[in-house]
Amino acid sequence: MFGKSIRIARIFGISIELDFSWFIIFFIVAWSLSMGYFPYYYPEIAKKHYWLMGMIASLLLFLSVLLHELSHSYIALKNRLPIKSITLFIFGGVATMSEEPHSPGVEFRVALAGPACSFFLMFIFKALAICVPEGSEAYAVFRYAAYINGFLAIFNLIPGFPLDGGRLLRSAMWHFTGDFKRATFTASNIGKGFAFFLITLGLLQVVTGNAFNGLWLILIGYFLKNAAASSYRQVLIKEMISGLTVEKVMNRGVISITENSLLSEVLDDYFVRYHVESFPVLSGERLAGVINMKMVKAVKKESWGEVRVSDVMTRALDGFVLSPEDSIDFVLRRMVEEGSGWFIVLSERHEVVGVLTRSDIMHLLKIKSSLDE
Ligand SMILES: [Zn+2]
Repeated sequence: MFGKSIRIARIFGISIELDFSWFIIFFIVAWSLSMGYFPYYYPEIAKKHYWLMGMIASLLLFLSVLLHELSHSYIALKNRLPIKSITLFIFGGVATMSEEPHSPGVEFRVALAGPACSFFLMFIFKALAICVPEGSEAYAVFRYAAYINGFLAIFNLIPGFPLDGGRLLRSAMWHFTGDFKRATFTASNIGKGFAFFLITLGLLQVVTGNAFNGLWLILIGYFLKNAAASSYRQVLIKEMISGLTVEKVMNRGVISITENSLLSEVLDDYFVRYHVESFPVLSGERLAGVINMKMVKAVKKESWGEVRVSDVMTRALDGFVLSPEDSIDFVLRRMVEEGSGWFIVLSERHEVVGVLTRSDIMHLLKIKSSLDE
Protein backbone atom coordinates (compact mmCIF):
# COMPACT_ATOMS: atom_id res chain seq x y z
CA MET A 1 0.00 0.00 0.00
CA PHE A 2 2.90 2.33 0.75
CA GLY A 3 4.96 0.80 -2.01
CA LYS A 4 7.74 -0.26 0.36
CA SER A 5 8.25 -3.77 1.61
CA ILE A 6 10.93 -5.90 3.27
CA ARG A 7 11.82 -9.50 2.64
CA ILE A 8 11.22 -11.81 5.60
CA ALA A 9 11.68 -15.31 4.17
CA ARG A 10 12.05 -17.53 1.12
CA ILE A 11 9.64 -20.46 0.70
CA PHE A 12 9.47 -22.69 -2.43
CA GLY A 13 12.02 -20.24 -3.88
CA ILE A 14 9.48 -17.39 -3.54
CA SER A 15 10.51 -14.22 -1.79
CA ILE A 16 8.04 -13.42 1.01
CA GLU A 17 7.76 -9.68 1.54
CA LEU A 18 6.02 -7.60 4.14
CA ASP A 19 4.42 -4.34 3.11
CA PHE A 20 5.19 -1.59 5.62
CA SER A 21 1.47 -1.12 6.18
CA TRP A 22 1.60 -4.51 7.94
CA PHE A 23 3.55 -3.18 10.92
CA ILE A 24 0.85 -0.61 11.53
CA ILE A 25 -1.92 -3.14 10.89
CA PHE A 26 -0.30 -5.63 13.26
CA PHE A 27 -0.46 -3.19 16.16
CA ILE A 28 -3.90 -1.85 15.28
CA VAL A 29 -5.25 -5.42 15.24
CA ALA A 30 -3.43 -6.39 18.47
CA TRP A 31 -4.61 -3.16 20.12
CA SER A 32 -8.25 -3.42 19.06
CA LEU A 33 -8.39 -7.08 20.09
CA SER A 34 -6.92 -6.47 23.54
CA MET A 35 -8.90 -3.30 24.20
CA GLY A 36 -12.19 -4.24 22.54
CA TYR A 37 -12.84 -7.73 21.28
CA PHE A 38 -11.38 -9.92 24.05
CA PRO A 39 -12.62 -7.85 27.05
CA TYR A 40 -16.09 -7.70 25.45
CA TYR A 41 -16.49 -11.41 24.69
CA TYR A 42 -14.35 -12.82 27.54
CA PRO A 43 -14.75 -10.47 30.52
CA GLU A 44 -13.85 -13.27 32.96
CA ILE A 45 -10.20 -13.48 31.72
CA ALA A 46 -7.56 -11.61 33.78
CA LYS A 47 -7.07 -8.09 32.41
CA LYS A 48 -3.26 -8.35 32.16
CA HIS A 49 -3.54 -11.27 29.69
CA TYR A 50 -5.44 -9.33 27.02
CA TRP A 51 -2.34 -7.75 25.50
CA LEU A 52 -0.46 -11.03 25.01
CA MET A 53 -3.61 -12.62 23.58
CA GLY A 54 -3.97 -9.68 21.19
CA MET A 55 -0.39 -10.06 19.97
CA ILE A 56 -0.69 -13.82 19.47
CA ALA A 57 -4.02 -13.46 17.68
CA SER A 58 -2.55 -10.75 15.44
CA LEU A 59 0.36 -13.08 14.65
CA LEU A 60 -2.09 -15.89 13.81
CA LEU A 61 -3.92 -13.55 11.45
CA PHE A 62 -0.62 -12.84 9.76
CA LEU A 63 0.22 -16.57 9.50
CA SER A 64 -3.26 -17.32 8.14
CA VAL A 65 -2.84 -14.73 5.39
CA LEU A 66 0.60 -16.11 4.57
CA LEU A 67 -0.69 -19.71 4.34
CA HIS A 68 -3.58 -18.53 2.15
CA GLU A 69 -1.14 -16.92 -0.29
CA LEU A 70 1.28 -19.86 -0.17
CA SER A 71 -1.54 -22.21 -1.21
CA HIS A 72 -2.19 -20.08 -4.30
CA SER A 73 1.54 -20.08 -5.04
CA TYR A 74 1.94 -23.81 -4.52
CA ILE A 75 -0.78 -24.63 -7.06
CA ALA A 76 0.58 -21.97 -9.43
CA LEU A 77 4.08 -23.46 -9.30
CA LYS A 78 2.67 -26.94 -9.84
CA ASN A 79 1.08 -25.61 -13.03
CA ARG A 80 4.39 -24.09 -14.11
CA LEU A 81 3.33 -20.51 -13.39
CA PRO A 82 6.35 -18.68 -11.98
CA ILE A 83 5.73 -16.68 -8.79
CA LYS A 84 8.29 -14.00 -8.11
CA SER A 85 7.23 -12.78 -4.70
CA ILE A 86 4.40 -12.62 -2.19
CA THR A 87 3.72 -9.29 -0.54
CA LEU A 88 1.41 -9.31 2.46
CA PHE A 89 -1.16 -6.56 2.84
CA ILE A 90 -4.08 -6.35 5.24
CA PHE A 91 -6.61 -9.00 4.29
CA GLY A 92 -4.51 -10.88 1.88
CA GLY A 93 -1.41 -10.68 -0.06
CA VAL A 94 -0.41 -10.18 -3.60
CA ALA A 95 1.45 -13.01 -5.23
CA THR A 96 3.34 -11.44 -8.11
CA MET A 97 3.03 -13.72 -11.09
CA SER A 98 5.17 -12.74 -14.02
CA GLU A 99 2.68 -14.50 -16.31
CA GLU A 100 -1.08 -14.77 -16.44
CA PRO A 101 -2.51 -18.31 -16.23
CA HIS A 102 -2.40 -20.13 -19.56
CA SER A 103 -5.89 -21.58 -19.34
CA PRO A 104 -9.17 -21.02 -17.47
CA GLY A 105 -8.71 -24.37 -15.71
CA VAL A 106 -5.35 -23.37 -14.24
CA GLU A 107 -6.68 -19.98 -13.15
CA PHE A 108 -9.67 -21.65 -11.49
CA ARG A 109 -7.53 -24.06 -9.48
CA VAL A 110 -4.99 -21.40 -8.44
CA ALA A 111 -7.77 -19.04 -7.33
CA LEU A 112 -9.64 -21.72 -5.40
CA ALA A 113 -6.56 -22.84 -3.44
CA GLY A 114 -6.51 -19.75 -1.17
CA PRO A 115 -10.11 -19.77 0.13
CA ALA A 116 -9.94 -23.58 0.41
CA CYS A 117 -6.89 -23.23 2.66
CA SER A 118 -8.63 -20.56 4.77
CA PHE A 119 -11.72 -22.74 5.25
CA PHE A 120 -9.46 -25.62 6.19
CA LEU A 121 -7.63 -23.46 8.78
CA MET A 122 -10.99 -22.33 10.15
CA PHE A 123 -11.89 -25.94 10.94
CA ILE A 124 -8.44 -26.61 12.43
CA PHE A 125 -8.75 -23.65 14.83
CA LYS A 126 -12.33 -24.64 15.68
CA ALA A 127 -11.06 -28.12 16.54
CA LEU A 128 -8.22 -26.65 18.63
CA ALA A 129 -10.73 -24.53 20.54
CA ILE A 130 -12.67 -27.68 21.43
CA CYS A 131 -9.47 -29.23 22.88
CA VAL A 132 -8.86 -26.46 25.45
CA PRO A 133 -11.05 -25.39 28.42
CA GLU A 134 -13.96 -23.25 27.30
CA GLY A 135 -13.51 -19.57 28.18
CA SER A 136 -9.72 -19.87 28.67
CA GLU A 137 -7.15 -17.58 27.04
CA ALA A 138 -6.22 -20.22 24.44
CA TYR A 139 -9.91 -20.83 23.70
CA ALA A 140 -10.48 -17.13 23.02
CA VAL A 141 -7.47 -16.89 20.70
CA PHE A 142 -8.37 -20.08 18.76
CA ARG A 143 -11.99 -18.95 18.37
CA TYR A 144 -10.76 -15.64 16.99
CA ALA A 145 -8.33 -17.40 14.60
CA ALA A 146 -11.19 -19.61 13.36
CA TYR A 147 -13.40 -16.55 12.84
CA ILE A 148 -10.70 -14.61 10.99
CA ASN A 149 -9.99 -17.54 8.63
CA GLY A 150 -13.68 -17.85 7.82
CA PHE A 151 -13.71 -14.13 7.16
CA LEU A 152 -10.60 -14.37 4.91
CA ALA A 153 -12.20 -17.16 2.88
CA ILE A 154 -15.50 -15.33 2.40
CA PHE A 155 -13.98 -11.89 1.81
CA ASN A 156 -11.64 -13.28 -0.85
CA LEU A 157 -14.54 -15.09 -2.54
CA ILE A 158 -16.25 -11.77 -3.36
CA PRO A 159 -16.62 -11.99 -7.13
CA GLY A 160 -14.62 -8.86 -8.05
CA PHE A 161 -11.26 -9.10 -9.83
CA PRO A 162 -8.47 -9.25 -8.59
CA LEU A 163 -9.91 -11.00 -5.51
CA ASP A 164 -10.01 -14.80 -5.69
CA GLY A 165 -13.76 -14.76 -6.31
CA GLY A 166 -13.18 -12.37 -9.22
CA ARG A 167 -10.57 -14.74 -10.61
CA LEU A 168 -13.00 -17.66 -10.33
CA LEU A 169 -15.61 -15.56 -12.14
CA ARG A 170 -13.11 -14.54 -14.82
CA SER A 171 -11.96 -18.10 -15.40
CA ALA A 172 -15.60 -19.23 -15.77
CA MET A 173 -16.43 -16.46 -18.27
CA TRP A 174 -13.16 -17.08 -20.08
CA HIS A 175 -14.00 -20.78 -20.26
CA PHE A 176 -17.50 -20.22 -21.68
CA THR A 177 -16.79 -17.27 -24.05
CA GLY A 178 -13.14 -17.91 -24.92
CA ASP A 179 -12.58 -14.14 -24.62
CA PHE A 180 -9.91 -13.47 -21.99
CA LYS A 181 -10.00 -9.67 -22.36
CA ARG A 182 -13.77 -9.33 -22.03
CA ALA A 183 -13.83 -11.70 -19.07
CA THR A 184 -11.18 -9.57 -17.33
CA PHE A 185 -13.05 -6.37 -18.17
CA THR A 186 -16.31 -7.64 -16.67
CA ALA A 187 -14.65 -9.17 -13.59
CA SER A 188 -12.67 -6.01 -12.81
CA ASN A 189 -15.75 -3.80 -13.27
CA ILE A 190 -17.60 -5.91 -10.72
CA GLY A 191 -14.54 -5.49 -8.48
CA LYS A 192 -14.68 -1.70 -8.88
CA GLY A 193 -18.43 -1.70 -8.23
CA PHE A 194 -17.91 -3.64 -5.03
CA ALA A 195 -15.10 -1.26 -4.00
CA PHE A 196 -17.43 1.74 -4.36
CA PHE A 197 -20.09 -0.10 -2.40
CA LEU A 198 -17.59 -0.62 0.46
CA ILE A 199 -16.45 3.02 0.36
CA THR A 200 -20.08 4.27 0.44
CA LEU A 201 -20.91 1.91 3.29
CA GLY A 202 -17.78 3.10 5.13
CA LEU A 203 -18.71 6.77 4.67
CA LEU A 204 -22.22 6.07 5.97
CA GLN A 205 -20.77 4.39 9.04
CA VAL A 206 -18.42 7.33 9.68
CA VAL A 207 -21.36 9.76 9.39
CA THR A 208 -23.52 7.70 11.75
CA GLY A 209 -20.76 7.63 14.37
CA ASN A 210 -19.09 4.27 13.79
CA ALA A 211 -15.80 5.82 12.63
CA PHE A 212 -13.56 2.82 13.33
CA ASN A 213 -15.44 0.27 11.20
CA GLY A 214 -16.17 2.95 8.63
CA LEU A 215 -12.51 3.81 8.10
CA TRP A 216 -11.65 0.10 7.74
CA LEU A 217 -14.26 -0.29 5.00
CA ILE A 218 -13.07 2.84 3.18
CA LEU A 219 -9.46 1.63 3.33
CA ILE A 220 -10.31 -1.81 1.96
CA GLY A 221 -12.56 -0.31 -0.73
CA TYR A 222 -9.84 2.08 -1.81
CA PHE A 223 -7.32 -0.76 -2.02
CA LEU A 224 -9.73 -2.91 -4.04
CA LYS A 225 -10.56 -0.11 -6.47
CA ASN A 226 -6.87 0.48 -7.25
CA ALA A 227 -6.18 -3.24 -7.56
CA ALA A 228 -9.08 -3.74 -9.99
CA ALA A 229 -7.97 -0.84 -12.17
CA SER A 230 -4.31 -1.85 -12.28
CA SER A 231 -5.02 -5.52 -13.02
CA TYR A 232 -7.18 -4.50 -15.94
CA ARG A 233 -4.48 -2.16 -17.21
CA GLN A 234 -2.01 -5.05 -17.18
CA VAL A 235 -4.28 -7.09 -19.40
CA LEU A 236 -4.64 -4.14 -21.80
CA ILE A 237 -0.88 -3.77 -22.00
CA LYS A 238 -0.54 -7.46 -22.74
CA GLU A 239 -3.01 -7.09 -25.57
CA MET A 240 -1.22 -4.02 -26.96
CA ILE A 241 2.11 -5.79 -27.18
CA SER A 242 0.83 -9.13 -28.39
CA GLY A 243 2.43 -10.04 -31.70
CA LEU A 244 5.11 -7.34 -31.43
CA THR A 245 8.72 -8.45 -31.76
CA VAL A 246 11.99 -6.89 -30.62
CA GLU A 247 12.88 -6.05 -34.21
CA LYS A 248 9.93 -3.64 -34.51
CA VAL A 249 10.63 -1.72 -31.31
CA MET A 250 14.44 -1.67 -30.93
CA ASN A 251 16.72 1.29 -31.58
CA ARG A 252 18.82 0.67 -34.65
CA GLY A 253 21.28 3.49 -34.07
CA VAL A 254 23.61 1.57 -31.77
CA ILE A 255 26.48 3.43 -30.16
CA SER A 256 29.19 1.02 -29.12
CA ILE A 257 32.61 1.30 -27.52
CA THR A 258 35.78 -0.50 -28.60
CA GLU A 259 37.43 -2.68 -26.00
CA ASN A 260 40.84 -0.98 -26.13
CA SER A 261 39.52 2.46 -25.19
CA LEU A 262 40.65 3.97 -21.89
CA LEU A 263 38.03 4.65 -19.23
CA SER A 264 38.90 8.35 -19.21
CA GLU A 265 38.12 8.52 -22.95
CA VAL A 266 34.80 6.70 -22.84
CA LEU A 267 33.57 8.75 -19.89
CA ASP A 268 33.60 12.03 -21.75
CA ASP A 269 33.05 10.76 -25.28
CA TYR A 270 30.23 8.34 -24.47
CA PHE A 271 28.70 8.37 -20.99
CA VAL A 272 28.57 12.15 -20.65
CA ARG A 273 27.75 12.83 -24.29
CA TYR A 274 24.92 10.34 -24.84
CA HIS A 275 23.38 10.23 -21.34
CA VAL A 276 23.26 6.45 -21.58
CA GLU A 277 24.00 4.14 -18.64
CA SER A 278 25.28 1.08 -20.58
CA PHE A 279 27.11 0.40 -23.84
CA PRO A 280 27.95 -2.68 -25.89
CA VAL A 281 31.71 -3.22 -26.19
CA LEU A 282 33.06 -4.43 -29.52
CA SER A 283 36.20 -6.34 -30.35
CA GLY A 284 36.57 -5.66 -34.06
CA GLU A 285 33.05 -6.37 -35.34
CA ARG A 286 32.13 -8.82 -32.63
CA LEU A 287 30.34 -8.14 -29.37
CA ALA A 288 32.86 -8.75 -26.57
CA GLY A 289 31.11 -7.41 -23.49
CA VAL A 290 28.99 -4.78 -21.80
CA ILE A 291 30.13 -1.80 -19.77
CA ASN A 292 28.03 0.44 -17.55
CA MET A 293 28.58 3.35 -15.18
CA LYS A 294 28.67 1.05 -12.14
CA MET A 295 31.66 -0.86 -13.56
CA VAL A 296 33.49 2.40 -14.30
CA LYS A 297 32.81 3.72 -10.80
CA ALA A 298 34.22 0.53 -9.27
CA VAL A 299 37.66 1.69 -10.49
CA LYS A 300 39.48 4.43 -8.57
CA LYS A 301 39.28 7.82 -10.26
CA GLU A 302 43.10 8.17 -10.43
CA SER A 303 43.35 5.03 -12.59
CA TRP A 304 40.78 6.00 -15.23
CA GLY A 305 43.63 7.17 -17.52
CA GLU A 306 45.34 3.74 -17.47
CA VAL A 307 42.55 1.15 -17.23
CA ARG A 308 41.01 -0.10 -20.45
CA VAL A 309 37.37 -0.94 -21.09
CA SER A 310 38.22 -4.64 -21.61
CA ASP A 311 39.61 -4.75 -18.03
CA VAL A 312 36.33 -3.80 -16.34
CA MET A 313 33.55 -4.80 -18.73
CA THR A 314 31.49 -7.93 -18.11
CA ARG A 315 31.82 -10.78 -20.57
CA ALA A 316 28.80 -12.57 -19.17
CA LEU A 317 26.38 -11.54 -21.89
CA ASP A 318 23.46 -13.88 -21.22
CA GLY A 319 21.56 -11.32 -19.16
CA PHE A 320 21.89 -8.64 -21.84
CA VAL A 321 21.19 -10.32 -25.15
CA LEU A 322 17.95 -10.58 -27.16
CA SER A 323 17.23 -11.90 -30.60
CA PRO A 324 15.29 -9.76 -33.13
CA GLU A 325 12.52 -12.39 -33.22
CA ASP A 326 11.89 -12.41 -29.45
CA SER A 327 8.43 -11.18 -28.47
CA ILE A 328 8.02 -7.99 -26.43
CA ASP A 329 5.95 -10.02 -24.01
CA PHE A 330 9.02 -12.21 -23.38
CA VAL A 331 11.21 -9.12 -22.92
CA LEU A 332 8.83 -7.59 -20.36
CA ARG A 333 8.81 -10.84 -18.43
CA ARG A 334 12.62 -10.87 -18.41
CA MET A 335 12.66 -7.25 -17.23
CA VAL A 336 10.43 -8.20 -14.29
CA GLU A 337 12.25 -11.43 -13.47
CA GLU A 338 15.81 -10.20 -13.89
CA GLY A 339 15.21 -6.60 -12.89
CA SER A 340 17.07 -5.39 -15.97
CA GLY A 341 16.08 -2.64 -18.34
CA TRP A 342 18.70 -2.64 -21.07
CA PHE A 343 19.34 -5.21 -23.81
CA ILE A 344 21.52 -5.65 -26.88
CA VAL A 345 19.86 -7.20 -29.93
CA LEU A 346 22.09 -9.71 -31.72
CA SER A 347 21.43 -11.09 -35.20
CA GLU A 348 21.86 -14.75 -36.03
CA ARG A 349 25.37 -13.95 -37.26
CA HIS A 350 26.18 -12.34 -33.89
CA GLU A 351 26.16 -8.79 -35.17
CA VAL A 352 24.82 -6.04 -32.92
CA VAL A 353 21.74 -4.82 -34.78
CA GLY A 354 20.00 -2.80 -32.07
CA VAL A 355 19.47 -1.85 -28.46
CA LEU A 356 16.22 -2.14 -26.54
CA THR A 357 15.56 -0.36 -23.24
CA ARG A 358 12.69 -0.20 -20.79
CA SER A 359 11.98 3.37 -21.85
CA ASP A 360 11.64 2.29 -25.52
CA ILE A 361 8.86 -0.06 -24.47
CA MET A 362 7.23 2.55 -22.22
CA HIS A 363 7.31 5.00 -25.10
CA LEU A 364 5.68 2.45 -27.39
CA LEU A 365 2.92 1.74 -24.85
CA LYS A 366 2.27 5.46 -24.45
CA ILE A 367 1.86 5.95 -28.19
CA LYS A 368 -0.28 2.83 -28.60
CA SER A 369 -2.61 3.76 -25.75
CA SER A 370 -2.99 7.33 -27.05
CA LEU A 371 -4.05 5.88 -30.43
CA ASP A 372 -6.63 3.70 -28.70
CA GLU A 373 -8.40 6.64 -27.03
ZN1 LIG B 1 -6.46 -15.44 -2.21
